[in-house]
Amino acid sequence: MTRPPRFPVPLDRLHGKAPGHSRKSATEVLRPQRPLQHAAEHAAKQAAGQGTPSGLGMDSAAVRERMVQRLRADGIRHEGVLQAFATVERHRFVDSALATQAYEDTSLPIGLSQTISKPSVVARMLALLFEGENARSNGHLGRVMEIGTGCGYQAALLALLARSVVSIERLQALHDKARTHLGERRQGDLRLVYGDGRLGHAPRAPYDSIVAAAGGEDLPTAWLDQLAVGGRLVAPMFDAARGGQGLVVVDRTAAGYVRHWQDAVHFVPLKSGAA
Ligand code: SAH
Repeated sequence: MTRPPRFPVPLDRLHGKAPGHSRKSATEVLRPQRPLQHAAEHAAKQAAGQGTPSGLGMDSAAVRERMVQRLRADGIRHEGVLQAFATVERHRFVDSALATQAYEDTSLPIGLSQTISKPSVVARMLALLFEGENARSNGHLGRVMEIGTGCGYQAALLALLARSVVSIERLQALHDKARTHLGERRQGDLRLVYGDGRLGHAPRAPYDSIVAAAGGEDLPTAWLDQLAVGGRLVAPMFDAARGGQGLVVVDRTAAGYVRHWQDAVHFVPLKSGAA
């Protein structure tokens, strides 16, 4: 088991190569920053006009703020989650031709027949994770495992809300794309892993929060095994009673696993093996 990062971390570490960076070819380690507080500092910087100019012009923070207001109106109450959405520049994670749609509540193609989920669904999943026992008592998502890195957008949000994040992607081309996207803006302790996420990532287990961005017919046993006591898993999954996908939430307690269903959703399929 890896030792948890110690806070605070000197700011210059955030922009330099992390120790171990060159050791592993299939993973990238992005070093720790204080969760939540960093999102607030970054948002303040953006609001003060000190953020990086973007393809959307200097008003991308304002466009994001409108997205945040819509999320709030949709019932997302968690301030940390809203702050993370105000901070992460979603338009930088999609093809530049799609940048103008980046802050609409829509899923967008990210290549190889995969999509980035719409902001309201991502926000709902993050808010559900915050209702897990460990997350409630810690005030952050703790150790997180994400299955389905895709373009890296959700991983960037998670990095602001968690103590550490492992994000797994089975498509090499998307893993590489996410590494490029996230490499430019190193925030949090974020490790990108190329492989089959159905196997989880045992070296960093147990996880306080597990979130999947692709939906299967079942919950892989590795995810349940790697969930910490007090931890929560949120994943899209086929719901026979519904005849379609729903969001399943699993809490691990000292006595066992407690499962319940949430909203109907539509995610890309969870597949086996790496490609
Ligand atoms: N969170 C992502 C969403 C990506 S879409 C983002 O913010 O962009 C879901 C991703 O799950 C796809 O990239 C798909 O390749 C990946 N995926 C599907 N099955 C997987 C598996 N078994 N292991 C890892 N990734 C998987």
